[in-house]
Parts: sequence; structure tokens; C-alpha cells
Amino acid sequence: MISEQLDKIREEALKQIKGSDGLEKLNEIRVNFLGKKGELTSILKSMKDVAPEDRPKVGQLVNETREAIEKVLEETKNKMEAAARDAKLKAEVIDVTLPAKKNKVGHCHPNTIALEEVERIFTGMGYEVVEGPEVEKDYYNFEALNIPADHPAKDEQDTFYINGDLLLRTQTSSTQVHEMEKGKLPIKMIAPGRVFRADEVDATHSPSFHQVEGLVIDKNVTFADLKGTLAEFAKQLFGPETKTKFRPHHFPFTEPSAEMDVSCFKCGGKGCRFCKGEGWIEILGCGMVHPHVLEMSGIDPNEYTGFAFGVGLERIALLKYEIDDMRLLYENDIRFLNQF
Ligand SMILES: [Zn+2]
Repeated sequence: MISEQLDKIREEALKQIKGSDGLEKLNEIRVNFLGKKGELTSILKSMKDVAPEDRPKVGQLVNETREAIEKVLEETKNKMEAAARDAKLKAEVIDVTLPAKKNKVGHCHPNTIALEEVERIFTGMGYEVVEGPEVEKDYYNFEALNIPADHPAKDEQDTFYINGDLLLRTQTSSTQVHEMEKGKLPIKMIAPGRVFRADEVDATHSPSFHQVEGLVIDKNVTFADLKGTLAEFAKQLFGPETKTKFRPHHFPFTEPSAEMDVSCFKCGGKGCRFCKGEGWIEILGCGMVHPHVLEMSGIDPNEYTGFAFGVGLERIALLKYEIDDMRLLYENDIRFLNQF
């Protein structure tokens, strides 16, 4: 009898639904009983064997069975989904009393901090920050700076040559020449950048380091302007009590030339271990731009004068942070870098 068959199917379906362990299994049961090839459908297909007058009755029974199975399927499915949601919420519970995870934020390298400080000071005085090429022609690195081929300064700066004419710049002074050649006057610029020398690595030397070059060219620029500018720079960098001292020196591209010392910011000039008892610390080289250098770049030295200076960026970083070995700046040891 069809009604008995239907009861059996319903019973079996409900039993399987009760015993199912997940949504996947539930779907399988749905397909097996209600699907196109499912058991209920096969009964509908056998309706042709049922007497026509009984068909509506059988049809109704089939529908009731289908509805009953669907109802239980749906309820079970909802229960399973709710349980899964609860489990997920429990697993993801947030304890708002726990301390937050700290993001590790990096910070600038001591060299970069020093550079930003130097740039801040000079842009504050109206200087422009310009960049020049690291691979340079011999002319820009030496000749245009009054260092001809046979000049001893060329030996002092052991140079990485790429070929006879191209080299890795040994000083940022080459950027001066590029700026002067542009013919736009006055000039008031600093040029920070990497420079290269064939030096062995030790506590104070590296084959690659950084300089900041400065250049001012205008009418009536004097040595007093140079002194005033660099004294102000030293005060802003090392503190308002900082005194400056200029010692005569020689550079091929400036005349007169000087080296500038600053009073030791550790002992105030009395002499300590930091300044090796001197009370003074050498900080940079400077001078009035040599008339020949101006001429070579097409500037009339009778009309214009200027001053230039060059400071080692590492030197500033080492002094400011009291680091005694330059190698520490390049090793990138996180235990060292974390301190700044
Ligand atoms: Zn000192």
C-alpha cells in the first residue's frame, strides 16, 4: 500500500535526520528523500499504477509526507546553524580587560634623524635642498672644484673610478657645480647625499658615508655671513650656549678656507673625555668660494661672491648621540638602533 510506504519513508527520513551530525549530512538526506531521484519522487512516478479516483488522495498523502520531512529538515538545520554560531562566538570572545597588543612601530635611523635636523635648520634660514648624482664625471668631482689632475688632493681622496672619466663622487661639493652651471643666481642651497672613498672600514672610516654640502652665492656675501650662518647652525644643532671657532685651513675650492670647531657640548669647553681635553670639537670645513671655481661655472667673481661648507652627517650623528664607533651606524643591529 502506498500509504504504508509513505509512512515508512517518513519514519526512515526522520530517523536519519535525528541521527545526522551536520549540515552536509542533512543535505544528503534531503536529496535522498525529496530530490529528483529521491524516494518520494519515485512514489509520485508510480502514480500511474494508482486508480484514477484514488490519485488525489495519494497525491495529498505524498505532499503531507514531503511537508513533514521538510519541516523537520528545516528545524534541524536552523538548530545546527544556531549551535555553530554560538560555538563560533564563544571561540571568538573578546576579553576587553586584556592589555592591547602593541604594534611595533619603527623609527628613523640616527643618520636620517641627523639629516632631518640639518635640513630643518637650513630650510629655516631659507636654503633649498638639492640633490646631485652619485655617479659623477671627474670634471664635476675634481676639476670644476679647482682640483686639477695632478693636484695632491686627488690622492687624498682615494676614488672609486668606474672608468677614466666616471667615478663615484668623493664629495657632495660636485652638486655645487651643477647648481652654479644652471646660471640661476642667487644660490642658497644645501646638498645632502652619499659619497664614496676607497677607505678601509674602521671606527671613523667607511667606503660610503654622507655629507651635507652648503653653498651661498650672491652679491656682497662675505666671510662674516659665513661665520654668522655656521654659528647659528651650531647653536641650533648643539644648543644655544655653543661657541664656534674658525681655524685657517686649506681646501682647493675655497679661499680663504677654515675649519670650524664648536665648544664641547658635554663640558661647555672646560675639557673632558668626550672632547679629549680640548674643550673644542672639529665639526666642518668651510670657506669663501674660490674665484676660479666661480669663473669655471660661468659666474663673474667681480660681481658675485659666496661661501661653501661641508659637514659629515655621520659625524653629527656620532656627536649628538655620543656614539664612538661609526660602524654601528651601518651594521643595522636592532639592539643598537632601538636606542634612538
Ligand atoms: Zn668636553
